[in-house]
Amino acid sequence: MLRLPPFTYLVPQSLPEAVAMLAKQGPAEAMLVAGGTDLYPNMKRQQYEPKRLIGLRQLRELQGLTGNARDGLTIGAGMTLTHVHQQRDIMAGYPALATAAGLVSTPQLRNMGTIGGNLCVDTRCNYYNQTYWWRQAIGFCMKKDGTTCWVAPGSSRCWAVSSSDIAPVLMALNAQVCLVGPAGERLLPIHALYRDDGISYLGKRHDEILTHILVPPATGCIMAYAKVRRRGAFDFPILGVAVALRLDDTGICTEARVVLGAVASAPLLAAEATTVLVGQRLTSEVIDTAAEVAFRPAKPLDNTDLTLAYRKKMVRVHVARVLRQLAGLPVVPRRGDEGHTSMRESG
Ligand SMILES: Cc1cc2nc3c(=O)[nH]c(=O)nc-3n(C[C@H](O)[C@H](O)[C@H](O)COP(=O)(O)OP(=O)(O)OC[C@H]3O[C@@H](n4cnc5c(N)ncnc54)[C@H](O)[C@@H]3O)c2cc1C
Ligand code: SF4
Repeated sequence: MLRLPPFTYLVPQSLPEAVAMLAKQGPAEAMLVAGGTDLYPNMKRQQYEPKRLIGLRQLRELQGLTGNARDGLTIGAGMTLTHVHQQRDIMAGYPALATAAGLVSTPQLRNMGTIGGNLCVDTRCNYYNQTYWWRQAIGFCMKKDGTTCWVAPGSSRCWAVSSSDIAPVLMALNAQVCLVGPAGERLLPIHALYRDDGISYLGKRHDEILTHILVPPATGCIMAYAKVRRRGAFDFPILGVAVALRLDDTGICTEARVVLGAVASAPLLAAEATTVLVGQRLTSEVIDTAAEVAFRPAKPLDNTDLTLAYRKKMVRVHVARVLRQLAGLPVVPRRGDEGHTSMRESG
């Protein structure tokens, strides 16, 4: 059995106290912990070796939810995934977010894991998510303790995979995150929270705490999230597809965002799919073209479950399925179903 290494657990009672503690300790010494469902297993494998952990569970500033689909939502970073999955305003107004939260891991981990921790979850790779001894036997890798990337040995960067289920959905919804650090508070569009780099995968500074998430109004928005994984019971995504659309009264698409998870070190906005969808009715032909252009930029590597060829192929299949679902078309295409569109509002 793997054991947690010794560490000191600090329990700030307020956000300013937590910020001051983190600033005082410095990046090599201390890390934040919310539910611990990602960090503790990583510490058991010595992927992270903080001497001190700053617990966020007592901070009232990170709790709570206000708003609704008409006005937009403010979600505390400390909200558990179970709560996000079951909260009435989220289920009614932002069903893709509720779905994604309900698809993370297992009930036990969703009861502990938070939405803030999910957005900051570590990137993953078959050569990295292993015990210390396993990693030692291959001479470690660039992400921790080594110098070589075993996935792309000639590469100067790490290609570990962004594996959050929630991040693609919040990117499709154009959310912002609020970060608080010694220099004060700043709002960041969620895409700027991520970097396409498996090691330095977050665009936030080490001394900043993610306090809450701002999700824009969603009235008239239709949305969905689909996840591909081997075992439905608890696996991380090997592909996530988040789509948010607005259609006008005649069924013409006026806004579209298609975001892919688990195909790169950051969630990937399929920008060309927007160009294809906006101004069009969601016919089978338009959907197939959008799925094709969304498929092209996805370049999964051979470093998570199942083969990269399969994972790449699934991008086209699942983008089309999600779009068909939102268009009210049969998810598996039938001959002669072109031209059917319907609008199902989430608000
Ligand atoms: C078996 C297993 C299966 C899993 N399956 C999935 C899955 O399918 N999908 C998925 O998305 N995740 C999965 N996870 C990962 C994890 O359970 C979730 O992502 C969870 O939401 C993480 O939240 P947490 O509060 O436990 O984060 P923690 O483990 O507490 O923290 C994770 C990281 O975020 C940082 N952090 C936490 N809160 C903040 C904050 N407010 N501000 C700044 N930094 C912060 C921590 O320092 C740490 O680096 C799985 C984990 C396990 C062990
Ligand atoms: S992508 Fe390369 S450097 Fe990154 S974790 Fe995997 S093997 Fe290590």
